[in-house]
Amino acid sequence: QDYPSLSRIVVVSTISGGGLIAYSEANSSYTANGVVETGIKKKKVVLLGTGWAGTSFLKNLNNSQYEVQIISPRNYFAFTPLLPSVTCGTVEARSVVEPIRNIGKKKNVDTSYLEAECVKIDPKSKKVFCRSKQGLDSNGKKEFSVDYDYLVIATGAQSNTFNIPGVEENCHFLKEVEDAQGIRKTVIDSFEKASLPELSDEERKRILHFVVVGGGPTGVEFAAELHDFVTEDLVKLYPRAKDSVKITLLEAADHILTMFDKRITEFAEEKFSRDGIDVKLGSMVTKVNEKDISAKTKAGEVSSIPYGMIVWSTGIGTRPVIKDFMKQIGQGNRRALATDEWLRVEGCDNIYALGDCATINQRKVMEDVSSIFSKADKDKSGTLTLKEFQEAMDDICVRYPQVELYLKSKRMRGIADLLKEAEAEADDGSKKNIELKIEEFKSALSQVDSQVKFLPATAQVAAQQGTYLAKCFDRMEECEKNPEGPIRMRGEGRHRFRPFRYRHLGQFAPLGGEQTAAELPGDWVSIGKSSQWLWYSVYASKQVSMRTRVLVVSDWMRRFIFGRDSSSI
Ligand code: FAD
Repeated sequence: QDYPSLSRIVVVSTISGGGLIAYSEANSSYTANGVVETGIKKKKVVLLGTGWAGTSFLKNLNNSQYEVQIISPRNYFAFTPLLPSVTCGTVEARSVVEPIRNIGKKKNVDTSYLEAECVKIDPKSKKVFCRSKQGLDSNGKKEFSVDYDYLVIATGAQSNTFNIPGVEENCHFLKEVEDAQGIRKTVIDSFEKASLPELSDEERKRILHFVVVGGGPTGVEFAAELHDFVTEDLVKLYPRAKDSVKITLLEAADHILTMFDKRITEFAEEKFSRDGIDVKLGSMVTKVNEKDISAKTKAGEVSSIPYGMIVWSTGIGTRPVIKDFMKQIGQGNRRALATDEWLRVEGCDNIYALGDCATINQRKVMEDVSSIFSKADKDKSGTLTLKEFQEAMDDICVRYPQVELYLKSKRMRGIADLLKEAEAEADDGSKKNIELKIEEFKSALSQVDSQVKFLPATAQVAAQQGTYLAKCFDRMEECEKNPEGPIRMRGEGRHRFRPFRYRHLGQFAPLGGEQTAAELPGDWVSIGKSSQWLWYSVYASKQVSMRTRVLVVSDWMRRFIFGRDSSSI
């Protein structure tokens, strides 16, 4: 599969105060400094977003034929896995962010940044329309447009409220650095408020009731961080609050951390129960009022729970600009932009999408799964031996690690059960028809809501996609000049791009009390203090710059020595 030729990459991010950059249509191009280089027509890439996907693309792009215009409302990259730590002051907000202008500084690629939000993408005129927070002229005009040769959409996603009444108005989200700072302030303010005189016990308990909605990795990590903050630091400073403080975790499914191995789920649930975190499973939130939250159990019982603060962490939804773009290109019924495996937005030329705002079309995945099964059927008899079936399944799980995660999760029957059943029926390794199992597997796969992202919405996926796309862009010119590759290489695909393949490197679930659960490739599960040290080293090594690495490590040391700071600023 050849990558199509790139002429201009557009990254959308934010406009930061500075003057606007002129966009050349003629055979001259403007560098980030406004210097005109005549005669060289650089390809203009507009990049929307300065998160994991956009930053990884930017860091890895290494070809002087491009001029990259970054557009994002946020002039920095934020290391989101540490946001739960920011909510409790384990790590400071400034330690997890890096200015995008630092990251974008490159010797061989012209990059410039505009602090603005992209509000509309027009693929017909190859323009993005943007709005800045600042007025651009004396009339306070805030809108402007930027044209592109290539557009890279990496705008991420927003918190999903499922349109439940009162969520938007009364809950904290945990998506941005400001959210984490807001939560930290609210927690400390709650303890101060609960210490005021003449409060009834009931009111004090309400104020100190912290509710977390959503038992995914972020909700669980936040509940664990908050528990540590309260028990290790706050109760020493607010001894009267000790008996009134409570943390509740509401989860609509039957278990928390369903995307993790069963052992991790069980350990987390037991640990939370020992820690006194009240985990209410099968509780679906129906409404949030100013002082109480209503939840319904599967049996239909509705309860109203008084709260002081709610953190809403139930997954992600589509940003308005992406919704609008999807409508324009006939993808209006989806939740994320469908791309092919080369990250090209389906039905568009020269537009790429990656990270949380995009998903690789599931239809392609299903075609792949079918072809793997047909390949495994070596004698074309229409039947598979158990061994062939197992090999095909391994192949599928390697290609699509998310299939394995789905199979393990409660959403579908476990692959192990499926194989056990097939094994029990197998007659001593002789040829066995397990077509039925394959059909079962395929139907289970197709039950996975076609709207669900086939790759997890994680920083790991976004960063790998950014690196992949940058490498494709780097080699684009070479491919255009030699579409069939150099003569000695023809037919071997040297100049052809491989489709994007995600490599799952494992996942962590910090559970508080210096204990972390780690699920690493090869079904390796480790829970406890040793995994916590692994977590520290992985997260220190993954920092985007030496500056943030030093800051984060010194924050951890500060916390070990002095505890967390409880000032409400
Ligand atoms: P983002 O990183 O969200 O970046 C989107 C960018 O687009 C931002 O710069 C934003 O300002 C910009 N933008 C938004 N709207 C517009 C617009 N209209 N125009 C232009 N720019 C726009 N993943 C893991 O792998 N491991 C973890 O431990 C982990 N922990 C997490 C903890 C928390 C609290 C959260 C919130 C997420 C966590 N994730 C984790 C998930 C991970 O952060 C996301 O999957 C990842 O950020 C997706 O990257 P992205 O580039 O697609 O989007």
